Amino acid sequence: MLQSGYDETTTGGKSSVVVPADRPPSHSFSIGRDPVRLRIVSSFVPLHTATELDVEVGRRVSAAGQRYTQNRQAVIRILSESDRPLTTAEVVKVGEGLAQSSVYRNLSVLEAAGAVIRIAGGDEFTRFELAEDLAGHHHHLICTDCGSVTDFTVPAKVEDRLESALASVATSAGFSPEHHRLDLVGRCSDCC
Ligand SMILES: [Zn+2]
Ligand SMILES: [Zn+2]
Ligand SMILES: [Zn+2]
Repeated sequence: MLQSGYDETTTGGKSSVVVPADRPPSHSFSIGRDPVRLRIVSSFVPLHTATELDVEVGRRVSAAGQRYTQNRQAVIRILSESDRPLTTAEVVKVGEGLAQSSVYRNLSVLEAAGAVIRIAGGDEFTRFELAEDLAGHHHHLICTDCGSVTDFTVPAKVEDRLESALASVATSAGFSPEHHRLDLVGRCSDCC
């Protein structure tokens, strides 16, 4: 996950956002003229250790009437170690020895248990990642050329401003929001 490198600059009343990929966390950035310390924050506390993650996913899989098998644990580990959502083929490739049919089936079971979600990419392939309450709140960069999907987070201040802007949209529509999803669609650095 891209947990850093977020710049917001204001030019001529228009807000533009630049998301460089290679910055370490806790860089400073600025909103208008005020320098702001970049903080990595999410609405949820991600589960950090493999054990915590396995206990929680195991609980969900059991609650769904399934067993948390070694292959399912392997799929969860692969997704948790990735910095972006993965296609079934990518999970198979990383998890040497896992059969494609079993990966496909296990992803469905994990999805039904609420441990994994599907992400629509910029191509025909469905991608999978850990549910947001397990991985932490984040957004996606979706490339319409190569289809790639990359995770990114924004500073808490930006999330707060997004939330309040979205809350007023929801209020005027009489809509009760639970959470938001925000993806940027365009071309990745490889395709520009
Ligand atoms: Zn691309
Ligand atoms: Zn993601
Ligand atoms: Zn957000």
